Amino acid sequence: MAQMEQKQLYRLVPNMNTILGMQELETVCEAFGKEAVKEAANAVLSELRTRIASGCTEEELKISISYIPAEVCKKAGTAAAPHMSRVINGSGVILHTNLGRAPIGEEIYDKIREKVTGYSNLEYNLETHKRGERYAHFEQLLCKLTGAEAAIAVNNNAASVLLILSTLSKGGEALISRGELIEIGGKFRIPDVMEQSGTALREVGTTNKTHYSDYEDAVNEDTKLILKVHTSNYKIIGFTESVSLKELRNLADEKNLLLVEDMGSGALVNLEDFGLDHEPTVQESVAAGTDLVCFSGDKLLGGPQAGIIVGRKEIINRLKKHPLMRAMRIDKFTAAALELTLQAYLNEEKRLQQIPVLEMLSTPAEILKKRAQRLCRMLRSRCNGLKCQVVPSEGKIGGGSLPEETMPGWAVQVTLENLSADQMIEALQQTSVPVVGRIVKDACLLDLRTIRDNELTLLAEQLKEVAESFGVDC
Ligand SMILES: *Cc1c(COP(=O)(O)O)cnc(C)c1O
Repeated sequence: MAQMEQKQLYRLVPNMNTILGMQELETVCEAFGKEAVKEAANAVLSELRTRIASGCTEEELKISISYIPAEVCKKAGTAAAPHMSRVINGSGVILHTNLGRAPIGEEIYDKIREKVTGYSNLEYNLETHKRGERYAHFEQLLCKLTGAEAAIAVNNNAASVLLILSTLSKGGEALISRGELIEIGGKFRIPDVMEQSGTALREVGTTNKTHYSDYEDAVNEDTKLILKVHTSNYKIIGFTESVSLKELRNLADEKNLLLVEDMGSGALVNLEDFGLDHEPTVQESVAAGTDLVCFSGDKLLGGPQAGIIVGRKEIINRLKKHPLMRAMRIDKFTAAALELTLQAYLNEEKRLQQIPVLEMLSTPAEILKKRAQRLCRMLRSRCNGLKCQVVPSEGKIGGGSLPEETMPGWAVQVTLENLSADQMIEALQQTSVPVVGRIVKDACLLDLRTIRDNELTLLAEQLKEVAESFGVDC
């Protein structure tokens, strides 16, 4: 057959009305709306014209035309897909700030749903028929779990620190050890927050050693409080000294100062139970006599993003009255998630099942090994060209908690012929459900510490997708 002229080829391309009338696109129009389908069709048509212009044959063009409905459907789907997407975390870092920190457990999430899809008693007291407080839903729980008199929550722990200092030490001075002048990820710096709150920072001691007398000597008539800050993402080791909360309590009493601790992670359970080093708990800080303790909701606690503040009732009441409180207040999602997470804490077994962070922390290495073996079997049955191997791996807690600690576990090393580990990592993030892996010694690892049983099938599918995208005949 003689090759058609380019002009004639253009005539083969269906027009917009023909495309919009295609029966195959009926459900697509219903799902995404006619406007979105039109936009997608326009893009597909302009691609076709480009192909003709670059000299494709009639045969090739006809094949492309037969793919129009599928292409339109794909493009409309991509355009409608949300930007924020689910990710499979194979990094082995449990509290990964870039990946949303603490995941919320499914059982807890299901119970949040009913409270936010309708109306709730968020700020309504059903007994007195009067306005209530959004903190009332979890204050008693926090008191019970930590031993404190009162509790509130704000949007995150950075906000807790700002609120506390703005309320208690504005125009005055706060004492802080030089060893605790931290910067957390995302440029949260204690000295900057202090400045914002109108509190003058009085640094005491040195980087590695701060003595009781350093605090004592620094107290003057402007001193309002002593701030103790958990160093979170680093450790000072070797020739060191710091002053305990108990001693600081004595000094605060003697000089009539307030004692505040920013715990960062704020563990409510003893991490030694999971074979980790001891991490001071909120209960211990309250028992040592701090006036206020603040910590994150989505670090070791394993709940929603929040800044939780517990302590003496009279001081919590002062915080509640500060104008910033209104600017930092939590929403109904957070209030619901906090209550449910804290409720799960009351039951030792339930909390390990319902709070993913605690579940991941407490899973023994041999279970992770079995999970890794299962993943490998699933991969072999799906795609033989993809090589996988079960290897030991060290998980981390992350989120500025216990920076030195690793958790022995297992990973699956995945390899494709002619693909470097870097390329593998890159390709894994381009799949329909992106996968974040980790490179260790030039190998691409997927750590099972942070991959849960119900994600294995989905993960195996993503790996097959990668293999196929590189032309592997699975
Ligand atoms: C993480 C951390 C913060 C910030 O908490 P966010 O909830 O992320 O705002 C503040 N102080 C310390 C000591 C921390 O570890």
